[in-house]
Order: sequence, then C-alpha cells, then structure tokens
Amino acid sequence: MPETTTRPAVLILLGPPGAGKGTQARMLEEAFGLIQLSTGDLLRAAVAARTPAGLAAKSVMEAGGLVSDEIVLAILKDRLTQPDTARGVILDGFPRTPGQARALDELLTGQGMAIGAAVSMEVDDAAMVARVSGRFTCGDCGEGYHDQFKQPREEGVCDKCGGTAFKRRADDNAETVEARLKAYHDQTAPLVAYYAARGVLQTVDGMGAIPAIAGELGAIVKQVTG
Ligand code: AMP
Repeated sequence: MPETTTRPAVLILLGPPGAGKGTQARMLEEAFGLIQLSTGDLLRAAVAARTPAGLAAKSVMEAGGLVSDEIVLAILKDRLTQPDTARGVILDGFPRTPGQARALDELLTGQGMAIGAAVSMEVDDAAMVARVSGRFTCGDCGEGYHDQFKQPREEGVCDKCGGTAFKRRADDNAETVEARLKAYHDQTAPLVAYYAARGVLQTVDGMGAIPAIAGELGAIVKQVTG
C-alpha cells in the first residue's frame, strides 16, 4: 500500500459513563472536522426508528447492560464505511469489549486506517453517578447541560442554538448508571491494557475542567495526525 502524507486520525475515547467522552468528542469534531462516532447515539437512533436492531437493543440499554457485539458491529460498520469518515473519526463508546476491539482492528486494516491513540479518561467512579444522573441535552443541537454543573445561561433556552426543547436519556438514572459502571469495569476496562500493549494508550485526567481536557485531547489529535 502506498504511503500517504496525511494520516487520518482514529481516536478512541475510553472511560466509564459520565467521563466526558461525548462532550469531548463533540468539541474535537468542531475543532478538527473529525467525525464523532458514538455507538450509543447510533443505537438510540435505531431504537427511535424501531429497526430490528433497535428493538433488540432497547431493553438491554434500559437495564444498563451491553448490546451484543453482533448488533453493535453491524451498526458501526455501516457508519464507518460512509465516505465522510475518511478524514478521521473519534470513537465514543466503542469498542467496549475485547471482541469489539479485535473486530475494529480488522475493519480499520481493511480501510487502510490505523488507531492513532486510545485515550483513557480516568475518573472517580463515585462522582460519575451524580454527573450522569443530572445531565440533559438540547433536543435541537445536542449541546449538553447538567442540573448542577452547567445550566443554560437563560433558563429553558439553549446557549448554543436558542432551542427550547431539552431531553434526558432514559438510562441516565442512578440505578441504571450503577449497572453501566459495572459493565464498564467488567467488560471495557480490560481494553486499557489491550491498547497499552499495542503502544497506543494515552491517559488524561477526566476529573479536570472541560477546556483543560479538550486542550490535552487536541494535542493528542495533532500528534497522531501530524
Ligand atoms: P452510551 O451512549 O455510550 O453511554 O451508550 C448507551 C448504551 O448503549 C450502553 O449502556 C449500552 O447499552 C449501549 N451501547 C453503546 N455502545 C455500545 C457498545 N460499543 N457495545 C455494547 N453496547 C453499547
């Protein structure tokens, strides 16, 4: 295969629910023109559209478990083979199991892409339940907010787009968050060692301020695409 001069960035964000993966992926998307690829978003869209995959995934998601690799991989593959991802992607919430990580390696090899970095966002579990339980987003533009930590400047109006409809995820409640944290520790945390062994692991302190974390991630993107 010929050498290319610009390397597409494939950045994996690893971390439990509430670590800030979605917030940071959206910021990187805006700053670098990369595509945020969130399997959680893709699955929620499938649930809303009542596709066969969505119908199969719904109850698992509501219970805070992991959807089968088969369903997730089909959805991911569909999205990753669309032309807009050729410049690079930020994988948010994928891979989540060793099987998904191996499948991703194969998929990327087939596309002539490689993982630039897998970034582990290190956070304190106890803080995650409060973070996740209070969050909501603008129904129009997807901007994220939080009951305690980030209210819109004007009550009921999105800072970013002026939208007035907000939504909360069905699985962002204390009980489901506990199950999601457990799924993370049991099935996803081993990927930190997987990517460390491959020499692509980087870590950031996910308890820091959002702009500071964005700065660190931006530096990683520049490093892997430069
Ligand atoms: P997220 O938006 O990443 O927090 O994902 C919400 C829910 O979607 C998770 O709790 C899982 O039920 C499901 N999900 C998202 N991504 C994956 C994945 N890569 N593998 C399995 N299940 C997933």
